[in-house]
Amino acid sequence: MQTQPPTPGIPIVVSGPSGVGKGTLIAEVMKLCPGLILSVSMTTRLPRPGEQEGVNYFYVTKERFREAIENNEMAEWASVYENYYGTLRRYLNEQFEKGLDVILDIDVQGAAAIRTLYSGAVLVYILPPSMEALRRRLYSRPKSEHDDLESRLQQARREMRFYGVFDYLLVNDKLEEAVQNLNHIINAHRLQRRRLEAALQKQNLLPGLSSE
Ligand code: ADP
Ligand code: 5GP
Repeated sequence: MQTQPPTPGIPIVVSGPSGVGKGTLIAEVMKLCPGLILSVSMTTRLPRPGEQEGVNYFYVTKERFREAIENNEMAEWASVYENYYGTLRRYLNEQFEKGLDVILDIDVQGAAAIRTLYSGAVLVYILPPSMEALRRRLYSRPKSEHDDLESRLQQARREMRFYGVFDYLLVNDKLEEAVQNLNHIINAHRLQRRRLEAALQKQNLLPGLSSE
């Protein structure tokens, strides 16, 4: 792969209905894309079987979550399926300063908030090939006894109406194809002029922009 000069990182937001395959796609694309880090969110929901503290989420009480909101620690947060979920501001900014792109698996409200905070963010919405496939995937996944799968399906239909805030729509039908497409989206954004020009000017590979 061609070496690019270091530039501040960007948020890459991946949203879509619960069970559509966001976690699976993200895990696969991270194997293909160096310089990508997954944002670990804070949540008040209980861990599912196999999930780990600090890997899947930081699991906290509602009191701790409310305190973080009051202290302005959250870049964004939302109440989803009766629990709080949110992204820590400090965590994101530390990664961007290191030049890492941060991939966020967050809901549509969070996606809109990230776009407002970081104008260079890339927003990708994942769609299922059909509602039947979505239902099958949702039911096949390890779940906590507290997950209400039918309300997640209803929520999915409501949430899909907000697709208009996203830059890209990606149907996750054949996994391999969807992974490749997500990889292409990320790589294209890494090559955008506005992202690269300052670093390339510093290296004298580009002239400064002149008004002539
Ligand atoms: P999400 O993170 O969006 O809630 P997951 O990544 O947990 O979804 O995926 C839900 C289920 O669907 C998992 O069992 C996963 O293996 C499966 N899955 C993901 N993508 C595909 C695909 N393209 N085809 C078939 N099954 C898939
Ligand atoms: P789950 O309980 O299946 O892990 O996640 C439920 C929903 O919460 C998913 O739509 C997921 O994208 C969203 N979510 C997870 N973390 C965050 C976050 O930090 N902020 C927001 N706004 N949504 C999140």
